[in-house]
This record gives sequence, C-alpha cells and structure tokens, in this order.
Amino acid sequence: MSSPDPECLFCRIVAGDIPSTAVYETGTTYAFRDINPQAATHVLVVPREHHEDSGTLAAEAPELLADVILSGVEVAKQEGIESSGYRLVFNTGPDAGRTVFHAHLHVLGGEQLGLFGRPH
Ligand code: AMP
Ligand code: ZN
Repeated sequence: MSSPDPECLFCRIVAGDIPSTAVYETGTTYAFRDINPQAATHVLVVPREHHEDSGTLAAEAPELLADVILSGVEVAKQEGIESSGYRLVFNTGPDAGRTVFHAHLHVLGGEQLGLFGRPH
C-alpha cells in the first residue's frame, strides 16, 4: 500500500501536517530527528510513500528501500558520524518495540552504542 494514510503519523509528518526537525531529504525519502533520541545522534529515515514495514517495502518497492538506506548513509555523513560509526535499524513487531507502522530506518550514533539483544 503506498497511498498516504491520514491516520499514519509518518505520512502526516511527510505531508508537513505534524512538525518535525528535517535533517535530509530526497525526492523519495525524508529524514528527521527522533523525538525521543536513544543516542547522541538519532535520525529516522522514511520513504515518502506509505509502506507498512521494511519487509513489505522490500517486496513492494525494492529501489525505494535502497533509497532509504542510501539516505541513512547520507545522514551519517552529514551528521559527521560516518567514520566514528553508526547503526541502521529496522524494528518489526512487539518484541522489537515497534510502534509506528510506516517503514522507518533508525540511524543511531554519535557515541559508543550499547550491545544488541536482551535488555541488561
Ligand atoms: P519504532 O519503535 O521502531 O516504531 O520507532 C518509532 C520511533 O518514532 C520512536 O523512536 C519514536 O521516538 C519516534 N517518534 C514517534 N513520534 C515521533 C514524532 N512526532 N517525531 C519524531 N519521532 C517520533
Ligand atoms: Zn504512512
């Protein structure tokens, strides 16, 4: 599904109906600061089109998934964390704490990140 969903938070952010702090954008993607940052640098990259999650995005629009990832790399360059290192994350489902059902890539970095996996 790719048409804008009026109930979708990130469709509304892309449309400018809900404010966000823009970091980077292309014709197909939009990157903005996470409202509840989990690292010194925490940016979300979304496709402008609505796709539910990373798997459906990959199946429905693989070039758009590539655009999202390449935009994440550009964000890392622009934020000055390309050489210090960063993490690109897609959360899926409740165990991953996923809350917004519009595919989004987390770009995390700017400091030493914690380990993956179980809470500790
Ligand atoms: P996830 O848990 O992977 O679904 O990630 C959703 C992310 O969206 C969380 O990190 C939230 O902090 C973030 N978020 C929720 N609402 C907003 C908003 N209005 N502006 C920016 N980030 C948001
Ligand atoms: Zn959406």
